[in-house]
Amino acid sequence: MKKFLKQWKLGRPELNTSCFDISRDGELVLHEGNYQYNLFNLARKFGTPLEAAFPFIVEQRLDDLKDIFNRSIKAFRYRGKFFYHYPMKASQNKEYVLPILSEGGNLEVTSANELWLVKRMWEQEQFSSRIRVICNGPKTNQYLSLISELRDKGLNITPIIEDKFELAALSTFRGDVGIRLDPQVRVHGHWDKKFNRFGLTAEEILSFGRIRNLKLLHYHTSKQLEYVEDIVGPLKKAMQVYVKLRKTNPNLDMIDLGGGMPVPFEKKPLFSTEAVVKKILRTIMKACEKADIPHPDVLVEWGSYLVAPAQLTVYRVLSEKSVTNGSIAKQWYIIDGSFINDLKDTWAIRQKWHIAPVNRLHSKRLTRTWLAGLSCDSDDKYTAGGKYILLPPLDTLEAGEQQYLAVFDTGAYQDALASHHCLLSSPMKIVIQNGVITVARKRETAEEVGREFGW
Ligand SMILES: *Cc1c(COP(=O)(O)O)cnc(C)c1O
Repeated sequence: MKKFLKQWKLGRPELNTSCFDISRDGELVLHEGNYQYNLFNLARKFGTPLEAAFPFIVEQRLDDLKDIFNRSIKAFRYRGKFFYHYPMKASQNKEYVLPILSEGGNLEVTSANELWLVKRMWEQEQFSSRIRVICNGPKTNQYLSLISELRDKGLNITPIIEDKFELAALSTFRGDVGIRLDPQVRVHGHWDKKFNRFGLTAEEILSFGRIRNLKLLHYHTSKQLEYVEDIVGPLKKAMQVYVKLRKTNPNLDMIDLGGGMPVPFEKKPLFSTEAVVKKILRTIMKACEKADIPHPDVLVEWGSYLVAPAQLTVYRVLSEKSVTNGSIAKQWYIIDGSFINDLKDTWAIRQKWHIAPVNRLHSKRLTRTWLAGLSCDSDDKYTAGGKYILLPPLDTLEAGEQQYLAVFDTGAYQDALASHHCLLSSPMKIVIQNGVITVARKRETAEEVGREFGW
């Protein structure tokens, strides 16, 4: 038994698989406290492709993160507070956003439409004016007027100035504002652009002198940062700017590190959250003590970190095919969904995924496979970067038995990036929480997908 848990990297807290286990019959199960869910049964009951979302995992991760920050804040006698801001773009799904808010999370939005969801929650009395909403992204007129409207209704809205036009547009804004710095520090991550178009340079920001109602200095470097130094390096640079900026803007008292905290998608252990939190606090304290200024409140907008591990996408293997090129043979498993549509990052940023069978996890024999999606696109595939995915062989299936597989950590970004190439339907989505399973999104019918295209 242990051997199979190890083989599939399940039950490991440092790999975010501590809730997953293997049943006596070799099926993938999930534990939520004393509740247990059998994913093989759920896949057969609801059909595939299937997204299974676990809000309780998001809640646990947020609680743990707040705990880690607050413990270190106390131990170091750090004078500022910690605030978690959920970047809604990681997943705007209600089943994540509402639990995050109820656990004390704040928000970060990137567009007028995301902010409109805030307005809606407010109108439905699901939103407290204590929750701070940070507004990033280019400010269209629609976005600016919604920012003002919500601020006038008494919500706690902090727009972030990202360029000179926004500095002018927000110069009459009556609430707190932030400003976005481009720290110009090279980091190892998914976003290492030579010409970063986001934010303002230190020189530009400092040239503005006094900025009305400036409360917060913000920056965001990349997603999936590789090393602790990729988080601490830009912070050091940002603190230099913070110290100078505070001289002309005495109300400045928040530093926002943006997103980028990595997820062990490939199930190799990464640096610990505890270690990086300590480094963050020490770095800020050092800069403040040198400049003799108070410690700011610390904000992070770690999106993937919080929600990616809270969802699985489950597929069924439709068929297999062996393809040779000269002396090399590759075994393809065709799945009943699409990487290009449902797991866009496979294709967009060459995301690697942890994949495990949903049934027959005890299989002694395994096959090296490549996975192909349902669309006609040659890019609709997953090969683990040209390596292979190990899965049970299909020739040992009993009559009527089917092989299912799960892609782990699909909770961030994949939903909003999803598309309908070849007019395929999106996966059905179920939510698993408190022993109850609810359908959050039904399987799209041909008629529903067709309607999107004017039919
Ligand atoms: C995308 C983004 C985030 C979240 O990034 P993750 O990699 O998911 O942590 C946070 N802040 C800003 C400004 C972003 O653009």
